[in-house]
Amino acid sequence: MTLERFRMEGKVAVVTGAASGIGRASAVALSDAGARVVLADRDEENLEKTALMVDDNLVVPTDVTKKAEVDALVDRAVEHFGRVDVMANVAGIMGAGGPIVDIDEAALDRVLAVNLKGVFFGVQAALRVMGEQRSGSIVNMASAAIDAAPAGLAAYSMAKAGVAILTRVAAQEGGPMGVRVNCVAPGFIVTPMTQRGTPEQMANVEAMMRKRSALGLVGEPDDIANAVLYLASDASRFMTGQVLRPNGGTAMPA
Ligand code: NAP
Repeated sequence: MTLERFRMEGKVAVVTGAASGIGRASAVALSDAGARVVLADRDEENLEKTALMVDDNLVVPTDVTKKAEVDALVDRAVEHFGRVDVMANVAGIMGAGGPIVDIDEAALDRVLAVNLKGVFFGVQAALRVMGEQRSGSIVNMASAAIDAAPAGLAAYSMAKAGVAILTRVAAQEGGPMGVRVNCVAPGFIVTPMTQRGTPEQMANVEAMMRKRSALGLVGEPDDIANAVLYLASDASRFMTGQVLRPNGGTAMPA
């Protein structure tokens, strides 16, 4: 009975950012647990590669910064599979880093558009459909940056902190409709987003992250996909408005 609650048979999950990293791993995990999965991303080539890893899928190329495209994504999911039980808003970018005084307006707008507005559109579209169904689980992707407040990452951290508060507000609005809304705030995970230097630089970053982890671990996409699966499934039926922090014990708020 307990394990049954992790099973996703009969459920339909939409995953944005599904062409890469955490989104791809989440799509595969949801599929392995039995869900039919709608794969969304702006990177069509890699989205097709994810489709080869997911049994019963629908590929819908989507730019999450465009409300009309996110609405159309959720509508396509309903047309094709009849319902949407899970909306995982994973798509994101690191965007421009650097000191606050040097961040230009266009770069700021871009990070907020993908990481905050994109998630907002996903939550909005999902609440519309799940509210009618009177059930559903929305899982948003925040970051350990919401606790760490790292210098040089203002735009990204602001957007992710926005995702955390959006999650809590949406949980209040969704609860009476039977819709749960939670977010995941991962620590450093090895994905294309974080593989930005030479192999030597990356080895140094990973060594530093391992040192910061109470467990001495560096995170992998599956570590986050497992959290997404938990929040998507009925195993988390008593969880809403929460921030889950899979980070290997790197950033632990009091
Ligand atoms: P990733 O491997 O770069 O995957 C992100 C995916 O989102 C990419 O396929 C990307 O396409 C896509 N995307 C970007 N902008 C989009 C848009 N406007 N519309 C649709 N898709 C878009 O990154 P990841 O590490 O898996 O990150 C996934 C999520 O986890 C992000 O929200 C990230 O902020 C969060 N996160 C990651 C880490 C980490 O250490 N990796 C830690 C905390 C939180 P392109 O390749 O074309 O940009």
